[in-house]
Amino acid sequence: MTMKRRDLLRSVAGAGLLGLTSAREQRAQEAAGRAVRGLPTPKIKDIRVIETQPGNARLSVVKILTDQDGLYGYGCATFTQRAELVKPAVERYLKPLLLGKTTDRIEDIWQTAYFSSYWKNGPELNNAISGVDEALWDIKGRQAGMPVYQLVGGKCREAAECFASVRGSDPKAVIEASKEVVKRGFRKIRVGGGDGGGADAAAAARSPKVLHDRPVYDRESAYRRTLKLLEACSVAFDAEIQWATDMHEKYDTRQAVQFCKEVEKLNIFFIEDPLSPEDLAYFRQIRQQCTTPLAMGELFNSPHEWQPLIQERLIDYIRCHVSQVGGFTPARKIALLAENYGVKTAWHAPGDLSPVGHMANVTLDVVSYNFGIQEWGPFQPKVLEVFQGCAEMKDAYLWVSEKPGWGVEVDEKAAAKFPFTEGGGARSGLNGGWGDLRLADGTVIKQ
Ligand SMILES: [Mg+2]
Repeated sequence: MTMKRRDLLRSVAGAGLLGLTSAREQRAQEAAGRAVRGLPTPKIKDIRVIETQPGNARLSVVKILTDQDGLYGYGCATFTQRAELVKPAVERYLKPLLLGKTTDRIEDIWQTAYFSSYWKNGPELNNAISGVDEALWDIKGRQAGMPVYQLVGGKCREAAECFASVRGSDPKAVIEASKEVVKRGFRKIRVGGGDGGGADAAAAARSPKVLHDRPVYDRESAYRRTLKLLEACSVAFDAEIQWATDMHEKYDTRQAVQFCKEVEKLNIFFIEDPLSPEDLAYFRQIRQQCTTPLAMGELFNSPHEWQPLIQERLIDYIRCHVSQVGGFTPARKIALLAENYGVKTAWHAPGDLSPVGHMANVTLDVVSYNFGIQEWGPFQPKVLEVFQGCAEMKDAYLWVSEKPGWGVEVDEKAAAKFPFTEGGGARSGLNGGWGDLRLADGTVIKQ
């Protein structure tokens, strides 16, 4: 044994450091080669953004092509309110940084892209990184011949239970619409609430107290109306049907605390975004005063926002928009952090993400032990013309694809038929951005 060690030291001295390093690298490469079953490691050959608007939302999807024929991947980079800024963030900044890199080092590429702007955690840049990150996971899955969920440990449940949304503020109409939703298998329904920029219908009829001609929102009437709606729904259905509403950061902080207290006795599965990211400290007040389940996070960009809420157990559901936090890689880390503190996941997912991003959501849902509930809304028919292989909905359960990678293909010819267009109505001329929403006295508010 002693001789062997001495011989080894002698041979190391003889070979020199360079020789030893080369041998180690060679062994590492051989091991990596065995891990990818002899396939050569792909390199990034091109990165581009597919922009398409087959439905209402402007969708941005990153496509990464590799130097291996037919091996490519897609990632969601959809940021509807500033859609046109994501493409240059990817093609003018990330592409020159990443061309020629091997696709198998996803964590390394994520951190490299994240650090490269020096200032970070903004929605445009995070969505750009998400597009790259998810495209790399897609490539790894296609290379392995496995769906992404297999690459991160496999399923711990068969499918993801979803909640449905019913718009409107008239209790009778909402209850009727909810009966249809229940027939389709849903047990959790979100009602009323803000739809992001929507004016307050009840206050739309102009009174002399409204001192402007912009969309108007009356916080007090919205508060009373939403409370009445939740009370009516809770009474109208059996206890197995549960309710939620989205406060959409429209209320002021005092109202938020009071509202969460008032609905505690009702059959609520969560109150969504009771506060804005600027007012996170008020979660402590809500928590001290009631047990109403709280969901928060669709506007979060940064670990500085979700870390304290999770670590202090101030919320029940973390509700980030996966591409908004930088893609599948950081979202998986958020889920794991949350699991350690008893917080469940409820990833944001209405129409303002692509089917590729939606598959990233349902992948997280089936692999995360602390999955809570998944938001769901049907994709418009033209979206399904562009994207094939979307996650399937059956009896309120969303099923992940069993195909390699995300299992979603983009028909680029169909995508090109639907370029970004101007919307109509109050938001026309804003390139997908939102306009303003104001109190009666003219004060502009969050929406
Ligand atoms: Mg919301």
